[in-house]
Amino acid sequence: TIPVVAICGRPNVGKSTLFNAICGRRISIVEPTSGVTRDRVETLLKVKDYYYELIDTGGIGVVDEHSLEDKIYDQINIGIQKADLLLFVVDIKEGITPLDKEVARLLLKQEKKAVLIANKTDESKFKMEAPKFLQLGFGEPICISAQQRHGIDDIMELIEEKV
Ligand code: GDP
Ligand code: MG
Repeated sequence: TIPVVAICGRPNVGKSTLFNAICGRRISIVEPTSGVTRDRVETLLKVKDYYYELIDTGGIGVVDEHSLEDKIYDQINIGIQKADLLLFVVDIKEGITPLDKEVARLLLKQEKKAVLIANKTDESKFKMEAPKFLQLGFGEPICISAQQRHGIDDIMELIEEKV
């Protein structure tokens, strides 16, 4: 069976942008407004000679801060159940939000392999902020900029190494 890699995280951290950057084309919908991605998107990904199923868990309905509980649970659970590796995305510019903590708690409960990704590291000076994400319990994040396609190769290597 093909291993499954699921991109997880609260709305607006750049999951869909990362998904598209990894795919090398625009499949998932990137929205400027938080939480408007509607479809869960899956694609077959080839890294060297291996195939993976990549999932953007981003969108089950509209998620806002006030209706977070149920929606966040649904959003995360659907993609995650069958995942072999979780890519947990946070926003290095925003830092840790209450929603990040909520997602972290849920992901840790899964007891699956997981990697923390600090997206929106558009300038290398932002990397100074990376250690503060240690408190989420996933170790040091990998700093990337999905928008600028920085660090995408690191993620590909990591997928190959971990799964
Ligand atoms: P999702 O809700 O987690 O799927 O997030 P999206 O991929 O839809 O992105 C949310 C917003 O963040 C959009 O305006 C993106 O253009 C922006 N974004 C995504 N990646 C980056 C990045 O690396 N740097 C910056 N500055 N913005 C980003
Ligand atoms: Mg999205």
